[in-house]
Formats: sequence, structure tokens, C-alpha cells
Amino acid sequence: MQRAVPFYDLRQVHQPLASALEVAVTEAVTSGWFIRGQFGERFEAEFARYCGVRHAIGVGNGLDALALILDAYVALGAMKKTDEVIVPAHTFVATILAVAGAGLTPVLVEPDEATFNLDSAAVERAITPRTRAVMCVHLYGRCGPMAELRHLTHRHGLKLIEDAAQAHGAVFDGRRTGSLGDAAGFSFYPTKNLGAIGDAGAVTTDDTELADTVRILGNYGSRLKYENLLPGRNSRLDEIQAAVLSVKLPRLDSENAHRRAVAAFYRAAIRNPAVHLPDDPDPLANVWHLFVVRVADRDRFRRHLADRGVETGVHYPIPPHRQGAFPALHGLSFPITEQLHRDVVSLPMSPALTDEEVAYVAEQVNRYPNQPQGGF
Ligand SMILES: *Cc1c(COP(=O)(O)O)cnc(C)c1O
Repeated sequence: MQRAVPFYDLRQVHQPLASALEVAVTEAVTSGWFIRGQFGERFEAEFARYCGVRHAIGVGNGLDALALILDAYVALGAMKKTDEVIVPAHTFVATILAVAGAGLTPVLVEPDEATFNLDSAAVERAITPRTRAVMCVHLYGRCGPMAELRHLTHRHGLKLIEDAAQAHGAVFDGRRTGSLGDAAGFSFYPTKNLGAIGDAGAVTTDDTELADTVRILGNYGSRLKYENLLPGRNSRLDEIQAAVLSVKLPRLDSENAHRRAVAAFYRAAIRNPAVHLPDDPDPLANVWHLFVVRVADRDRFRRHLADRGVETGVHYPIPPHRQGAFPALHGLSFPITEQLHRDVVSLPMSPALTDEEVAYVAEQVNRYPNQPQGGF
């Protein structure tokens, strides 16, 4: 086997930050205060400023961030149980779990095959009198069609919620994700573009009432200790994660720039008719959480790369409407989504990839034979 190129190596990503991370963790530990303290407050202020919104609320993880937004809208009377939320059929399952978990009905729509993101015409066709919100996932790091969705949701009186778990720092029309709709949910799972050293997440919004309600709901439904206002849950950003995130946030833009450079190299260097590359019409609007290509014979392609030391991923192998968790969706048919789930492959992508590694990956992709070779 030739050299090994990892899909994503967190040790390499953290290496230039090792001492700063150690100092931050030590400070948090020696403070002796681990939940809802100065580190969390500081990171919330920094992240709100970064996203360009009034409020950021640290929560336990990305799934909770999305679910708490919906729970808060229900608590505020903007939605009631069984109302519909339009979501992409092609997404990570957490998007749909969040809607179902809040007691709302997820209505799945096909993606735009060229962008992997929501297709605004399909969204419009799915609107019914019970629709209350559209949840737009900036999938693989690429902003969804926010201009169309803003227009559409405004016209129909719907909330526009961003699932920004894969798109920290992406810029659409001069504004960062987190500020592109009514509210946004972020994940800081370790391998996301902005990652903690455990589970963590945040909600961002300009809506003060919503922010207040999310904060209460994530703290047992309490504003003041032992005074329980709403049937909440426990989902908070802890001080160690917040301290780590404050070290990593200032590097997010340069790490995203590195990802863009890797993507640009792949797009320029990969020349193989068997491998369909993603396009890049608006470079700032993509932070390349993943670099996803499409190939007809995925297993053979992955084996070809694995044999040459290149690790790949599949995001995702089973569409949500075929998952055991959603029997109510099993009867539905989403041909574009199902096709994507059959042929997508993610190439190595990380801010730690070297020029040499990226060139090696592109070379091995180019060597992938267009047709199965017989004779051996
Ligand atoms: C990671 C992710 C989530 C969930 O975030 P967690 O922190 O893992 O709970 C939600 N939506 C999308 C699109 C994701 O990629």
C-alpha cells in the first residue's frame, strides 16, 4: 500500500493548537465551575458576534439546538404539535429527528441534484395550510438557496430555520450562516468545521423572545434555580467545551480557507469522466465540510482508493425515509435522494491536509479506471 491519507485526522487538526487547548482546558478545570459560567458566557458573545446576530445560546449538541428552537416556537404559540415542518429528504438524520422529537410532522422534499440542497420549487409545492416552518440544511457546508427560501417563507408566513451544523462560517450574500433565517442550530461535534472536544451545540437568533425561551427550555425550563416555568430539558454548553471553542473560533476562517483551497485543487486536478465533481458558483457560500463526488460504482471506487491508502466516507448510506426510526416515512418515494444515497462518496477533507496529500488523492482518483478491467 502507498501512503495513507486519512479522511479526517483530528490529532493533526489540533496539533498547531495543542498548547493553547491545554491552557484553556486547565483554566476551565481550575476555575472549579463547570456549567453556566464565564467561559460559556464569553463564547456565546463571541459566536453571536461572529455570526452577526444578537443572541447565541450554548446547548448540549446540534440535535438539541434544532429541537430546542422548535420546542421554543411551540412554547411561544407559533406552532402546535402535529404542525408541519418542511425538511430536505437528503440530510443527516438529526434534522428529521429534531422535528419529530418536538412533536411536529416532518414533510420531506427532494433536493436539487446539482447542489445537494433544498430545491425551493419543491419546497413551495410541499406547503399546506399546516406548514409552519422550513428547515434548510446547508448540506456538506454549502449554503442553501436562502434568497428564494426567505422570499417564500416570508410570503407564506413561515419560520425559516437553518440547520447550520455543517456550515459554520459560510457566507451568503454578505452574511454568515446563523443569521440567514429566523433561527439557526449549530453542532460543535468534534469533526464539524468548528468542533469541541466532546458534544456541544448552539442556537443563534436575533429574536430575543425566542433566545430567552431556548435558554429556559435548555435549563429544565427554569430561568431562576428551582423555579420551573416550562417543561424543559437539560441541554447546556459546559465550560470546558466553551473554553476550547473560544480557542478554535478565531481560526475558523483560516481553516475554512484551507478547505476551500483543497476543494479548488480537487476541482482543478481531478479529470476522470467516471467521477462527477461538485460545482462552486459562489466560493464564500461553501465551507466544504465535506467534498462529495458521485460515482456509478461506489464500492469499486472506494476499494480502488482504499487499496492506495486513501480513506473515504459516505454521507449518507441510508436515506432517512428508509430508516427504522421512521416507519411512517417508509411508504414514500424520493428517487433523487435515493440515487444520491447510492452514489455519493466523500474524499478526504480537512484543514490539516497537505498539498502533497491532496495531490496524491487527486492522482489516485484520476487513475480510477472508467470501466471495470478484465483479464486478471
Ligand atoms: C451533525 C449534524 C447534526 C447534529 O449535531 P450533533 O451535535 O451531532 O447532535 C444535525 N444536522 C446536521 C446536518 C449535522 O451534520
